[in-house]
Amino acid sequence: MRAMVLEDPGSPLRLRERPIPEYGADQVLIRVTACGVCRTDLHVVDGDLKEPKLPLVLGHEIVGVVEAVGERVEGLELGQRVGVPWLGGTCAECAYCKRDQENLCDQAVFTGYQIDGGYAEYAVADHRYAFPLASGISDAEAAPLLCAGLIGYRSLCMTGEAPKLGLYGFGAAAHIIAQVALHQGRKVFAFTRQGDTEGQEFAHRLGAQWAGDSSMHPPTELDAAILFAPAGELVPAALAAVRKGGVVVCAGIHMTQIPAFDYSLLWGERCVRSVANLTRRDGQEFLALAPQIPVRTQIQTFPLAEANQVLERLRTGKILGAGVLLPEIS
Ligand SMILES: [Zn+2]
Ligand SMILES: [Zn+2]
Repeated sequence: MRAMVLEDPGSPLRLRERPIPEYGADQVLIRVTACGVCRTDLHVVDGDLKEPKLPLVLGHEIVGVVEAVGERVEGLELGQRVGVPWLGGTCAECAYCKRDQENLCDQAVFTGYQIDGGYAEYAVADHRYAFPLASGISDAEAAPLLCAGLIGYRSLCMTGEAPKLGLYGFGAAAHIIAQVALHQGRKVFAFTRQGDTEGQEFAHRLGAQWAGDSSMHPPTELDAAILFAPAGELVPAALAAVRKGGVVVCAGIHMTQIPAFDYSLLWGERCVRSVANLTRRDGQEFLALAPQIPVRTQIQTFPLAEANQVLERLRTGKILGAGVLLPEIS
């Protein structure tokens, strides 16, 4: 099979011919039809996330068809369409796993980081971390739901009711979660890179109440904010925009250093928290909710071999919505 392989962090991925991966008793073999490109992939390529398995196939927004099932697999069948997320396996025995916080498992392994992912024609996945996907959305449009959507959904849940919600960094995750928030009757305030009028217009088209630069103060006090952009300076900016008792949720896996800020920004029971990974329950809930809204993802598709160019476009903010690789086209 063809795969885009990371051999050396800091260097571009290389297109390689590899054998179709072997699957274990708890795993399914998946023919990959679409794989989203996530900012986390960029953090792995750049070495911000340490000690990836090498060589590594990136990609943790996998959509594909089950081609083979291991002997202990339950609930998935040959020919079924499935999605594979970032969380690829947990120990099932630690204190976190036992209280349904498997997203915090110390032994967790992650797709496209410690396990080969979906920048390839085939991938294997643990059946407990492969979700059946409902029809009504194409493979490419479904791919961003698997990380941008899921992490966004978990972040949204962490904001509580928050009728006025700020979204900092209006990319793949924000454009999905804005639709969920609007569906729930919330008002959305979108913050983009400085001068990103295209991103701001995109937010308005999706129904945002207001859109502006991330350095700007919103026209009204927010109840909560979610930071999808990996820029530490947004933490004090968002704290300054939320009301007393409000929460600022950091959704990214990596963030630049948060600058020192005055205690008055945190005072008034404001709260800063992070969101890590996802639980299986998040996956089941969100993938059931998305088709009801229905969430429409804005995607740009590319052949597998163009993965490096897609990562570069993501880095420079030149993808509107989400970038998706299609291994079946060349
Ligand atoms: Zn565990
Ligand atoms: Zn991701």
